[in-house]
Parts: sequence; C-alpha cells; structure tokens
Amino acid sequence: MELTSPIRILPGVGEKRAQAFARLGIETVQDLLYHFPRAYEHRGDMCTLAEAQDGQVVSVLLTIAREPASVTLRGRMTLTKVTAFDDTRRCTITFFNQSYLKDVLRLGATFRFYGKIGVKDGHYTMTSPAFEPYIPGVPLPEFVPVYPLSAPLTQKIVRDTVRAVFDGCALDGAEVLPARLRTEYGLPGVAEALRGIHTPASVRELDAARERFIFEELFVFSAGIAFARNRAKGTNAPVMQSCDLSEFYAALPFALTSAQQRCVDEITGDLCAGGGRPMTRLLSGDVGSGKTVVAALAAYVCIHSGYQVALMAPTEILAVQHYHDLSELFEGMGIRCTLLTGSLGAPQKRAARAQAKKGQAQLIVGTHALLSEGVEFARLGLVITDEQHRFGVMQRAALTEKGSDAHLLVMSATPIPRTLSLILYGDLDLSEIDTMPPGRQRVQTYVVDESYRARLDAFIRKNVAQGGQVYIVCPAVESEEDEGLVNLMNEKPPLKNVIDYTAKLRARLKELRIDTVYGRMKPRDKQAAMARFAAGETDVLISTTVIEVGVNVPRATLMIVENAERFGLAQLHQLRGRVGRGRAQSYCVLVSNSKTGPARKRLEALKGKDNGYEIAKIDLELRGPGDFIPSGEGGAKQHGAFSFRIANLCTDMGLLNAAAQAAKDLAETDPDLLDSGHTALRTRLSAINARLRGTIS
Ligand code: ADP
Ligand code: MG
Repeated sequence: MELTSPIRILPGVGEKRAQAFARLGIETVQDLLYHFPRAYEHRGDMCTLAEAQDGQVVSVLLTIAREPASVTLRGRMTLTKVTAFDDTRRCTITFFNQSYLKDVLRLGATFRFYGKIGVKDGHYTMTSPAFEPYIPGVPLPEFVPVYPLSAPLTQKIVRDTVRAVFDGCALDGAEVLPARLRTEYGLPGVAEALRGIHTPASVRELDAARERFIFEELFVFSAGIAFARNRAKGTNAPVMQSCDLSEFYAALPFALTSAQQRCVDEITGDLCAGGGRPMTRLLSGDVGSGKTVVAALAAYVCIHSGYQVALMAPTEILAVQHYHDLSELFEGMGIRCTLLTGSLGAPQKRAARAQAKKGQAQLIVGTHALLSEGVEFARLGLVITDEQHRFGVMQRAALTEKGSDAHLLVMSATPIPRTLSLILYGDLDLSEIDTMPPGRQRVQTYVVDESYRARLDAFIRKNVAQGGQVYIVCPAVESEEDEGLVNLMNEKPPLKNVIDYTAKLRARLKELRIDTVYGRMKPRDKQAAMARFAAGETDVLISTTVIEVGVNVPRATLMIVENAERFGLAQLHQLRGRVGRGRAQSYCVLVSNSKTGPARKRLEALKGKDNGYEIAKIDLELRGPGDFIPSGEGGAKQHGAFSFRIANLCTDMGLLNAAAQAAKDLAETDPDLLDSGHTALRTRLSAINARLRGTIS
C-alpha cells in the first residue's frame, strides 16, 4: 500500500464507500491520513457511577452482573438489556437490534462503556453506549477520534479504515517538512504526528501533533505562494488606450455613484499607465454596492484596446448570472461574450475554448474551469475574479501564470485585514466602493427560535401572496448520522438539512412551489433550479450556502437562515444581501435555538447593523478569520482551492509568520526544490497545482 494508492484498495472500501469518502475530499490513502478528527471522545476520563450526573456523557468501567436478555418488540425491534456494576452502583444498559451482544457482554466480564447516562431515583441507565472490553494490564485508548462523516460512512468504518492504513502503510514518505525545520521548531515527524492526531495517547501528544500539522499546513500554503510568485513575475503587461465611455454609460439604466466613478478612474489609471507593470487591484465593496458594473467598465476599456477579458466566479450559478447580465449589456456594443463552465456539453465546451483561443470571444465568463489547461487565450489582457475570498490564492497564481502578464482585478465583498491580505494575496492595491447606490431599502432582520415556526410559515405565505419570493438556507444537505453512538458533538440537536426540510415544508405549505439547490447537484440541475427561481416560477428556494455569493433576484423579499448560529456574521450578511434588491420591503429571519451566550449575541449584533465592513470586523474579533478562507460545501473540496483544516489564522499568527518566512527562505535557497530533502514537498506542491488547474470534463 502506497500513500498515493486509491482509497479503494483498503479493506471494506467498495464503490459506495469510496464515493462517500470522495465527497469528503478523500481519494487516496494520504487524503485519509489527512482527514483529521473533528473531536475526540475522552474515554480515558473515567468516573464511577456514583459520580455520574444525569444527562452527562461519561466513561465508566463496569462488570456484567447478569446475562443479557433480549425481547422482541412489535415483531421488529429487538431490545437487549444488561445489568452491570462498579464498586458504587448498578446500571441498566439497553441496546436496540443488537441481540448478538448476548454473546459479547458475558457474565463477569468487564467493559469500558462510553455514552450518556440517565440517573433517576437512584436508577442508572445507559442506552446504546460505545464499549470496549477491559483486560487488566492492556491499556485502552485514552481518546477515540470522531471524524467528519458522509453517509453511509460511520465512525466505526472510518476508524477501522484509518487503522488499516496505520497497519499497512509506511508513513514517512508523507514528510514534507525539511528535517532542519522540524528540529528548529521542535516538531514531531510525520509518522509520529499522524498517530498523535488520530490516536493520541495523551493531551500532550495531541497538542504536539496538532502544532506540527498547523505548521505544516501554513508552510505548504506559504511555499505554494512563494513558488507560484517565483514563476509568475510579469513585467510585460499590455498598455490599454483610454477610450470614450459614453456608449457604455448610455446603456446603463442608472448613473454611477461617485464611489464607483472613483474606482473606475483608479482602475483605468492602472490599465492605461504603461510601463509594463500588471495591475493587481482589489475592488472591495459591500454586498450590493455595485462592483459588477465597475468591473464591466474595466473589461470594456481592455476590449476596446483589442484584448480579451476573463471573468471568473466561484460558483457556476454566479458565472451564469454574470454571463447573462454582461452579455445583455455588451451585446448592443458589438462585444462578443462566451460562457465556459464545467457543466457545458463537450461540443459547447470545445466551441467556447476555440473562441477564446482564436480571439473571437472578447469576454469569457466562467468558473474555475477557466483555469483548466485546455483553455488558451489569444490576447488575454485582464483577469477579473469575483468574490475572491472563495478562491485560493494559488488558484489565482495559476491563472496569472496562464495569462502571464495580464492585469488582475479581484472583487470582494469581505473587507480583509491588511496583514491577512498581505499573506493571502500578496501586495494588492485597493479600490473601495464605500457608498451604496441610492434608494436602497434596509432589510429588516429578526432573530427567532423554533417556537416561531408556525408564524414563520404564515410569513412565508404572506410574502409569496404579495408577489415576493423566499430563500431558505440550511447548513447541511442531508442528515448525518453518527451510528447510535453518543458523542460529544451529538448532544446538540441535529442541523437542519435541505432534503428533510424540503419534504416537511412541502407537506406544510402545499400550495407553494418549492424547489432546492445544493452544491452536490448536477451543475445543469442547479442552474435550471436557479433559473426557475430567477424567472419567478418558484416561490421558495431551499438551499445550502451555494446561493450565498452574488446571486441577484430582485423579487426575493424574504431570507430565512436555519441554524443561523452556525454561520459567520459576514456570511449571514452576504446571505441577507440576497434580498432587498428590489422595491419591496425585505426581511431576513435568523432561526436559532441558541438562547443565550455569544452565539445569540452575535446574531443580535446583525439586527442593528447593515454595514458589511463593521460586521466583518465584529466577526473577525469573535470568530477569527475562518470566513476569509475558502471552505465548506461548494468551496474548497469541490473546487480544489486551498483551505485550512486545522490552522486558525487568528490564534496561529505566530506560527504563520514563522512558516511563511521559512517558505520564503526555501523559495530563495532551493527555487526548484532539487534538494533530496525537499522531494516530498515538491510532490505535494505539484499535486496541489494539478488540482488547482482542475478538471472540467
Ligand atoms: P455587488 O457589489 O454585490 O456585486 P452588484 O454589482 O450585483 O453588487 O449590484 C447590485 C445591484 O445594484 C445590481 O442590480 C446593479 O444593477 C445595481 N446598481 C449598481 N450600481 C448602481 C448605481 N450606481 N445606481 C443604481 N443601481 C446600481
Ligand atoms: Mg457581486
């Protein structure tokens, strides 16, 4: 077994499971090793029954007092009951449909049980706890990992599969940290750290492993940037001619705000400056501030000078929308636009590529598919990326390489702190749209809990009756079951998921047309659902955050976010920005059962604020910069962008600086990574690059 072997070669992994692993971004043995636990059950932290409190998750060492007895209920469910004791109390333990346990939980044997305990009138009970046989002198694991799952995977399957890798694979080949760095920072080697993170024997071991992987992650990330920069040092950028923009302005149904005008001036200044220095500019402005039209003007200037412009969006939905809006605007000016996304049929893709290559298309709009090796441009002058925080910096570097000396305009609705942007994007010039177009309505925001459900249904009906449309966002696609095992994370009520939610809402609101969109759907179906909603053929659209960025449906008047506490404020603000785009008063309802504490406070903070910049600042203080890093459904895994699994840029700032410096030094001393100690790093970086270049077929 090799680190690069496909996951299919592991025992018990067939087609179905391999697909589930793939959904988690796991394709190779190495991917699985880097699938870190999201939590640990601290089973080594044992107590006696007498010490256990009702409702607590505990680990107890109990001896079986009476042979298990099974009864069958309603002819279907088998209930197995067993009594066990320690020095202090007795406990009744119940299992469902596991009658074979009769032969496992034998009289007189001792087991470590882990799960939620019930204490009532001196009676102790546990239901379907996890358990391991206790043999004196043989230590039981202190911590048991809890992994992120995707059905039909269970904790047991993932744990067993990980164990099979530890048993059958040499891990040292995964070492990307040069020995010198490990010594300097006192970091464990990769094999030790992998064991430490999957099966820690102590908190100290876990901490050491974690620190190593945080460092590794930041180091690989920084190295990726440093080496990409080495490769892409443009000094030969085209010089654009300044041109008359009145034709463009005449086609707009509104006048630019003065902030937009200023940004246009700054951008055209760069484009027309000469000297060969490519523009690298961040166009930032709150949701709805009108960044698209500014970017369109930049495109117009370049196209007038005979160059092509590539516009990339983070999602297919957004790419299609940009394509529709911009081609409508540009058509009348004789500018040819083309769309190039992953879901196009092969002939259309081929045609779009040919148009880009022969220079027939002047504006090429697409997703990351534009990065794919097959796409060539005749005369690429400007690359625009929308909602940059969804893209990995290395993706951008890959694109810049392609367009070698093209100008770059990055649009983002998220204000990124200066230090962070330096690390993530390098040195970008900044243009800021700091005022909103006139006449915008303020979206009324409410925070409610589950007890409002009936009123919320009525509110949905009312909005639709008045000609509005409704977005509902859930944090999950389908329910995620952790195999009857009680674990630390499962104590919270399950998250609302698109599939179940849709079924329930359809049953409650029969007269409404309800549709769904989520990242895993076929792109074509996703687009069709989005198009139906945009055309007003759907009343309620239930989705994950795939609709978060940029989508524009002016008739939408109500945004409901379920399990709102799960989202960052900046993200909620983005979601809220999907409504309030038309004339009618719009509403945003955040549903959350967090009654107190910081989660609730965060949500309340959103009520009074509608300045995205202020909100992002609060969020950064409360949650750290996680939202600035691509992640989540439709994010990192799918698009191959870089995301941090375990590093937190706020708390690990010190490590980040060290790792970034080490990477920079390395890029200077061994720019081609020819040293034999750097082979694994070279392999890792080219693998990342290959993923970034992506596949659209
Ligand atoms: P964002 O900055 O979030 O990308 P958009 O570019 O999508 O915002 O613009 C949001 C909406 O505002 C669009 O419908 C757009 O046509 C409109 N808009 C942009 N600029 C102006 C303006 N100066 N006056 C009025 N409406 C504008
Ligand atoms: Mg936008």
